[in-house]
Amino acid sequence: MLNLNKNRIALISVTGDPAAEIGKEEAGGQNVYALQVGLALAKLGWKVDMFTRRNHPEQAAIVNHHPDCRTIRLNAGPAKFIGRDKIFEYLPDFVKAFQEFQDREGIQYSLIHSHYWLSSWVGMELSKHQPLRLVHTYHSLGAVKYQSVSDKPAIATTRLATEKACLETADRIIATSPQEQAHMRKLVSNKGEIEVIPCGTDINRFGSVSRTEARAELGIKPDAKVVLYVGRFDRRKGIETLVRAVGQSSLLESDRDKLQLIIGGGYRPGQSDGIERDRIHGIVKELGIDDITTFPGQLGKTNLHLYYAAADVCVVPSHYEPFGLVAIEAMASRTPVVASDVGGLKFTVVPEITGLLAPPKDEQAFAVAIDRILSNPEWRDELGGSGCLRVELAFSWESVANRLALVYNQLLTQPVIPMNPPVLAA
Ligand code: UDP
Repeated sequence: MLNLNKNRIALISVTGDPAAEIGKEEAGGQNVYALQVGLALAKLGWKVDMFTRRNHPEQAAIVNHHPDCRTIRLNAGPAKFIGRDKIFEYLPDFVKAFQEFQDREGIQYSLIHSHYWLSSWVGMELSKHQPLRLVHTYHSLGAVKYQSVSDKPAIATTRLATEKACLETADRIIATSPQEQAHMRKLVSNKGEIEVIPCGTDINRFGSVSRTEARAELGIKPDAKVVLYVGRFDRRKGIETLVRAVGQSSLLESDRDKLQLIIGGGYRPGQSDGIERDRIHGIVKELGIDDITTFPGQLGKTNLHLYYAAADVCVVPSHYEPFGLVAIEAMASRTPVVASDVGGLKFTVVPEITGLLAPPKDEQAFAVAIDRILSNPEWRDELGGSGCLRVELAFSWESVANRLALVYNQLLTQPVIPMNPPVLAA
């Protein structure tokens, strides 16, 4: 019998496996978002099935995170890692596998929340064959990304067309910041309904230890001055700006023995992230700051919260960032943030209150901002306290899930109007 349970939703994240190890192989904010939102919705009473693409033959087909929240891996294309720009051709297989899953389980989802443009294509395609409401979160907009890329990938035209079609036809678009919403309107389309609901963070995990405790656990001296980066090794993340900023820090003269730069994130030797890590390490050596720089690799369940808490300042030097989870994780940990004055970072970081903003790629401005915080521990603590308060008030996963649930409920009580989706060939 077909189960049209109104509280059952499908979350589609073709490229962001919610059950993946975070911090490498393109696994970052989107994966964290999908899992945390899925779990928080399950706690509110929703049954959440999260669909992703199997990218390793040994991966379990289903991972249960909670009695009402599971990751389901569908076969679409070879069971190996494929970069985001090469996945589009396998999407028809993903749609077919999704439909087969529904038939096998006797489920028909009446609401799909898709993540990233590839999944929006899947959602729009499915809506041609079954009545459903489509909610979409972009996580990154091609129209913004390609502004700062010199050689656009072959898939760019398809991506831009899909993003436009989705904005104009989905039942609701979730922008994670007012800045992202403004970009959609300015660069994609005037049509379509957008609602701003930010990303969230685990306020119980981050902020659970003091700086002193975290440093003791990590073996960092109490009087060290720690500058932290957390994230993927990707040029767009602007790690080079951070490294060059530390290379011109005034503390290199006054407090060299105390200054520490920690660059946390996973990488695979020889792959794009491994190559970027080596490039960054090359710059570190060229600047003569190898002795004060460490690369602890991928940070996870046991140590990520410790690194955030141990730092004096967390730097997010991205060229562009639709939201930027790292900034709110650091703020939740009472650590001030120095971030690029772009995208969602302008929304999360309040300058002079929870941290400082600097123009992207401006290593001198980053150096000044970092030094201001490192040289004033009292102000550091003030900024950290305000950041933590801001996250508690605005960015808990519970509040995000509550707001999403309102959108879902509102859409599920409306009659379905066929979407008349545009024709986009795979
Ligand atoms: N992350 C992690 N371990 C690492 C590096 C990153 O768990 O070694 C997590 C980080 O805590 C954050 C996410 O990956 O939750 C990155 O999200 P963000 O929105 O900052 O950037 P994205 O990767 O989506 O571009």
